[in-house]
Amino acid sequence: MTTSILWFRRDLRLGDHPALLAAAAAADEVVPLFVLDPALLRSAGARAGRLRASLTALRDDLDGALVIRTGDPAEVVPDLAAEVGADEVHVTVETTPYGRRRDERVAARLGAVGARLVPTGSPYAAGPGTVRTAQGGPYRVFTPFSRAWRAQGWPAPANPADVAWRTGVPGEPLDGPDEPDDAGERAALKRWKAFLETELTSYGIDRDRPDLDATSRMSVPLKYGEVHPRTLLADLAPRRSPATATSVDRFVTELAWREFYADVLWHDPESAWHDWRDELRGMPYDDEPGLVEAWRAGRTGYPFVDAGMRQLLAEGWMHNRLRMVTASFLVKDLHTWWPVGARHFLEHLLDGDLASNNHGWQWVAGTGTDAAPYFRVFNPVTQGLRFDPDGDYVRRWVPELRHLSGAAVHEPWRHDDGYDRGYAERVVDHADERRDALARLAVVKGRP
Ligand code: FAD
Repeated sequence: MTTSILWFRRDLRLGDHPALLAAAAAADEVVPLFVLDPALLRSAGARAGRLRASLTALRDDLDGALVIRTGDPAEVVPDLAAEVGADEVHVTVETTPYGRRRDERVAARLGAVGARLVPTGSPYAAGPGTVRTAQGGPYRVFTPFSRAWRAQGWPAPANPADVAWRTGVPGEPLDGPDEPDDAGERAALKRWKAFLETELTSYGIDRDRPDLDATSRMSVPLKYGEVHPRTLLADLAPRRSPATATSVDRFVTELAWREFYADVLWHDPESAWHDWRDELRGMPYDDEPGLVEAWRAGRTGYPFVDAGMRQLLAEGWMHNRLRMVTASFLVKDLHTWWPVGARHFLEHLLDGDLASNNHGWQWVAGTGTDAAPYFRVFNPVTQGLRFDPDGDYVRRWVPELRHLSGAAVHEPWRHDDGYDRGYAERVVDHADERRDALARLAVVKGRP
């Protein structure tokens, strides 16, 4: 009887799983493993609980066979390989800076005990680093990347795997919820099917409206690999009709952003925490803990911004429009360097992803690829009036403004009773801060 190990990481599912197929093909029995890595858990913030829920669902889908162990993977994985007599440990390729370093260490330690790490597939339709320019280099701008990505295409979803899971390998108990209702592969696919049936057609029009809940919310399942993006792409293709073409194309483009940012990070791991473009070097940023705290807590006095920040704290998720508006507010109204905000998002977002988050921040801050020019400063009031026209989104998250009807919630200062229920006064004046931001930009641009 031969044994291989499937070491799950950002791929907590059983369907469309190339590494699982490889593990099953390599041996008679497969040991499913997840390592609780303290180095990762320390920075997981709100995601630690969500991870446990996802693992609980996976363990249920594996009839309890999932082996959970805590420790440094460079020790845990080779130890288990020796214990169960596995020659091969199969994984989905990891492309984040930490994941790459970790896998190099694990591969070296496995080599020392006569086993090997076998990477297959990736959490992306096209693995980071595989979409190249004609000269063989990386793409630095999104639109040509997405064109090349589509032209290159991706394999069809992997077949279901016929696996003999090895049971009875000792592991640790998991303190997750007894029955996770919205985590795991089955819940992800259920949500996805519901989106395809009800919201897809209007996605192209409504995706910018936070009051409508018109997006897929697949970012969280994608983060944990409860579903593979290729599965989504394969489900979308046959639904493309004249009525849905705009929405389908738009959705594919959004997935392409996820792929692009992973590619950028793969080529340039430093871009996670450093300005990707140098153009704003020397930009004078402020360090005003009181203002940053008001932003974090959703007490800036700008209703649309505050609603977004409170949704983040309450749900661990925020609508994309709000991510852009709140990020712009921190960087351009409060003149704060983007990593301060990126850290806060990563602490609270259940979909918190180094590539999408930090490059999303750099896009807003004017330092990233395709950066929205720095002089494009989101107006938090007109953004609210435009994308939450009836004020429903703000009223959902800011109870102190619920007595104001319709769009009045976006400008409490215009109404006699606007502050009657204790809503915060504006911490800064947007028009003044916009001028200030542009003046700072002029200083940077005018430098020798
Ligand atoms: P949908 O509109 O249904 O989009 C479908 C999928 O496309 C998403 O699930 C996501 O995987 C991908 N996608 C959509 N927009 C983007 C984008 N701009 N960049 C990359 N991928 C995208 N996304 C994350 O997954 N994790 C993050 O940590 C993250 N941080 C962000 C920080 C900032 C400042 C900004 C501006 C954007 C960030 N995004 C992040 C991208 C985007 O806001 C979320 O992916 C999206 O809001 C998730 O909701 P959804 O699944 O309903 O999106």
